[in-house]
Amino acid sequence: MAREYLRTFKVYDLDEVKEHLVIAGDLSGDCAKCRELGIDYLKAASCPQCGTPFKYIASRRLDSHPGERFQFARRIQEKRPDLIMIDHTDYTSAVGHKKARDFFG
Ligand SMILES: [Zn+2]
Repeated sequence: MAREYLRTFKVYDLDEVKEHLVIAGDLSGDCAKCRELGIDYLKAASCPQCGTPFKYIASRRLDSHPGERFQFARRIQEKRPDLIMIDHTDYTSAVGHKKARDFFG
């Protein structure tokens, strides 16, 4: 059986994602909801500050190191199969679009 990672597109509720997203940095992660820093994203089931359960993960590092995408996906699949990996660039651009829509009505 040949198992490979293939990226997919799916519609998400942006507010729901933001509510349950941990953003991985180089060493630790931060909570998209309350901005708490220094979260161990390979272990934390929820935010130690606001308590929100994490369901999604995005990596800021992949914005500048896209070649590490599949390596990161494999690591998350092994260590955090409970999390859905979303693309950080997609997320930030969607948040930007939403802010513009909210602002201009
Ligand atoms: Zn939090």
